[in-house]
Amino acid sequence: MRLGEAPAYLYDLPALDEHVASVRRALGGTELYYAVKANPDAELLRVLAGHVDGFEVSSAGEHAHVTRLFPGLPVALGGPGKTDAELRLPHHRLHVESPNELRRLLATGLEADVLLRLNPGLPVEGAALTMSGPFGMDEDGIAECLPLFRDRVRLRGLHAHLASGLAAGPLLELARGLLEHAYEEVNLGGGMAVSYTSPGTRFDWAAYGAGLAALARGRRLRIEPGRALTAYCGYYVTRVVDVKRVRGQAYAVVLGGTHHLRTPVTKGHDQPFAIVPTGGGASVAGEPITFVGQLCTPKDVFARDVVTSAAVGDTVIFALAGAYAWNISHHDFLMHPKPAFHYLRA
Ligand SMILES: *Cc1c(COP(=O)(O)O)cnc(C)c1O
Repeated sequence: MRLGEAPAYLYDLPALDEHVASVRRALGGTELYYAVKANPDAELLRVLAGHVDGFEVSSAGEHAHVTRLFPGLPVALGGPGKTDAELRLPHHRLHVESPNELRRLLATGLEADVLLRLNPGLPVEGAALTMSGPFGMDEDGIAECLPLFRDRVRLRGLHAHLASGLAAGPLLELARGLLEHAYEEVNLGGGMAVSYTSPGTRFDWAAYGAGLAALARGRRLRIEPGRALTAYCGYYVTRVVDVKRVRGQAYAVVLGGTHHLRTPVTKGHDQPFAIVPTGGGASVAGEPITFVGQLCTPKDVFARDVVTSAAVGDTVIFALAGAYAWNISHHDFLMHPKPAFHYLRA
């Protein structure tokens, strides 16, 4: 990649292929869907499609995107606030979020295979984000749904997406609680942890897969991770355009900004990065440096007070940019050029 092309996204497709293959192996008989909202990039989806049992989509837009690319692959359609048009979309599974949504589904007169989304209110410790609030139904809502099923709308089982950012142990604990409900089929959601502060610490897929196998007891289990599948294969590559010291604080300003990679702002972390010394211009060296982008807002910060060195022209490679990165960012703010997209291929 030429420096002139910065900023750019770089996706390592062989690394994604290897990672998802290893997750697939660890899961044994548990079905694996990919939550498309983490990153709907078609090149990534093509790699994923070789390994997953299906895709989880949460809007008509994601549904159209995925079914156009992979007409034969099963789709699970979820998400709060589905429109009547969305309830009419073909699916392998439909995750129903409320009794009234089920009534609207029945009113379509169409066939459907339903998982009821339970909001189990289980205590979730150590989660980055707990999916409580409006998602799914409590036990009363589920009880209200059960007698409504009729005709060609079939109850297949239960769906739950409990929290985001959990290690294998706590996720298995939650699964154990959930599997006390006697359903033949249970989708346990996503939320497997990705550590941005210690990127080498990975979710223990082997322990999770073995734990689920022990809990399954003949039931059909499914998970639908997003972040932990694609985060690692993406990089945001940019270049230092200015360095300075303002009231004692050293800054490196890079081309682009968090309108391309919103993740550190939304999650409040320092985005992990490496510097390739391609610059040789003015520098700040061996002191805490704050890395900012080109946006005219104090929120445009990638990482704060990281002790390192940076020179104008240096290449900065932000890691863990393959999920909830480009596709959740506010691209048009300030009208800077969009990044290029590059794909490493086998
Ligand atoms: C976001 C979401 C996922 C994926 O979550 P990750 O944290 O990316 O693994 C799975 N299922 C549902 C219902 C979701 O909303």
